[in-house]
Amino acid sequence: MENRILVKDRYFVPYIPYERLEQAIDAVAERINHDFKNFNGTPIILCVLNGSILFTGELMKRLNFPCEFSSIRLSSYEGTLSTGVTRKVLGLTSSIKGRTVIVVEDIVDTGKTITDLHALLLDAGAADVKICTMLLKPEVYKKELKLDYVAMEIENRFIVGFGLDYDQLGRNYKDIYILDTNTPRTMRKHFLIFGPPGAGKGTQAALMIERFGLRHVSTGDLLRREIANGTPLGQQAKTLIDQGLLVPDEVVEGMIASELDANPGVKGFIFDGFPRTTAQAEHLDRILADRDGKVDAVVSLMIPDETVFERIRHRAEVENRVDDTKPEIIQNRIDTYHAKTEPVISYYKGKGCYREIDGLGTIDEVFDKICAVMKDYE
Ligand code: 5GP
Ligand code: MG
Repeated sequence: MENRILVKDRYFVPYIPYERLEQAIDAVAERINHDFKNFNGTPIILCVLNGSILFTGELMKRLNFPCEFSSIRLSSYEGTLSTGVTRKVLGLTSSIKGRTVIVVEDIVDTGKTITDLHALLLDAGAADVKICTMLLKPEVYKKELKLDYVAMEIENRFIVGFGLDYDQLGRNYKDIYILDTNTPRTMRKHFLIFGPPGAGKGTQAALMIERFGLRHVSTGDLLRREIANGTPLGQQAKTLIDQGLLVPDEVVEGMIASELDANPGVKGFIFDGFPRTTAQAEHLDRILADRDGKVDAVVSLMIPDETVFERIRHRAEVENRVDDTKPEIIQNRIDTYHAKTEPVISYYKGKGCYREIDGLGTIDEVFDKICAVMKDYE
């Protein structure tokens, strides 16, 4: 079992080795075998995709009574069934009318999914529904529904492996890992992607996120999320935006601070579109220092003004933004960029973390240059 794994942008540490899972699955299979020894009929083993795929396989090869296999996927909440159940079934692979169904789940947390599914199966005509889950978080499970078979109970922490995912990744680990909340925050890296409009920041940031397992911090995305979730910060921001006003630095910084705090186990962050002024750069330093961190590197994509000019005009034409094709408007954007961000560049040069990269060339060529710089921070 590896000591520490990186799944997407977070570290996880060993939690349940495969051998212990096997023992727990042996025990739960034995109980099911015992209960179904003299069963009249053929139950259906119902694998709840995707998470239960490995557990179902391990369980089924231990069952020694006649049984059939079927699978089901539940969408997240959409549509409403007659029972008031707010889930949509994506492909129940066989009819369950009049049948006894043994539902096989990977994990039961609040129990919302399993109670929805239980109601849904009875609604679809199942004669009896038994629940078998590999894992249960008893601290959070507050439902009345009886869980017939529980292989193992765990604490209320986020896990991956053995079928369980983090953003669809990590299902293929044979052992189970737990989100690492103990990695010292000083080990977290903080990068900035910097450059004039049209320098390819978005494209290169996406490549960096994927290659280096970084978490993207875009102030625009954060704002939209706060507004969508109707948080106090979001409401404050919305009021200002609706009046055509700029969101003040404090609000943006508050969002960044909570993003940093809400993400334990993250390997590093990449800031995109922030800071835009020296005042914001100073605030960011303070926010990071409060969390034992710092800006490790400012990856600055440099292209000449003529290229910026051409790229903005080209983009405006392609996207049919008439305003942006006017030379004086483009020049104005370039001038504003220089006036505002040049001081930020000087600020980071003074801190010794400014890494300038020639932004001319193909996407791959530029990314290779970024990778060469990033080697210093691995
Ligand atoms: P519930 O509806 O019981 O709150 O949540 C059950 C579903 O949430 C599971 O089927 C699984 O998809 C997801 N889930 C809950 N806890 C965890 C966890 O610790 N790790 C992972 N990867 N998924 C979890
Ligand atoms: Mg599941």
